[in-house]
Amino acid sequence: MSQVALITGGANGIGKALVQTFKEAGVHVVFVDVDDHQGEALAIACDASYYHVDVTKPEAIEAFFRKMDQEKVTFSVLINNVGITKVQPFLELSYQEFDDVLKTNLYSTFLFSQHVARRMPDGGRIINIGSTRAFMSEPNTESYAASKGAIHSLTHAMAMSLQPHNITVNAISPGWIETGDHQALTDVDHAQHPSNRVGKPDDVARLALFLADENQAFINGENIVIDGGMTKKM
Ligand code: NDP
Repeated sequence: MSQVALITGGANGIGKALVQTFKEAGVHVVFVDVDDHQGEALAIACDASYYHVDVTKPEAIEAFFRKMDQEKVTFSVLINNVGITKVQPFLELSYQEFDDVLKTNLYSTFLFSQHVARRMPDGGRIINIGSTRAFMSEPNTESYAASKGAIHSLTHAMAMSLQPHNITVNAISPGWIETGDHQALTDVDHAQHPSNRVGKPDDVARLALFLADENQAFINGENIVIDGGMTKKM
């Protein structure tokens, strides 16, 4: 059976690698983002379908799924990848700033999962991108750490709720991955790592493809760390 994957935040970084890896594996890919320039270019380069959806806006998400219904698109894979990080002094962190991160990272994961699970007629795979920052914190990362910790809890609760629908739900928790600001890492930064390098978006995308396999029905509710051993370093 041919698969259809929906990827959030697919225009850049790990999301872009997910789009490319799933397309190369013969999966039809639909992805959403707000970076139209990168999104449209990637859609053309990969023959994928791109839609502008601001995931912090529930009404924009509903409009997107109405369009999917009109086009009779159903899904077999969802990857809740979109995420933002804000590093802000905790004593100055406002409710609004905290809420912005929760809306982008956590609420979008809830909303996309619910909409997609209703549109997975033959069951499927939901994969949530968490982070090692959920359990290894640095100062001033409260909003991000809270959002990712909640994504892990949401993952195993949804895994139980969606089991009767033949849908598995797992999380991937990357450590340092070379995207965005991290592309400026130096050789010294890489050398601090037990693997002598930080991760690449492809490392995460290959794990997601493994979890998305139709035959991986017995992996459910898991959180798989992919960090080259960083969280095991003394
Ligand atoms: P990037 O910032 O490289 O890419 C995220 C994409 O999401 C961008 O295209 C961004 O657009 C888009 N986006 C941001 N806000 C919204 C929104 N409201 N609606 C729709 N799209 C939006 O992120 P990464 O690839 O680094 O991270 C991907 C995931 O992996 C995140 O969940 C992150 O927390 C997680 N992760 C990343 C790690 C890392 O080291 N990189 C480590 C651990 C986890 P624009 O660029 O225009 O803002």
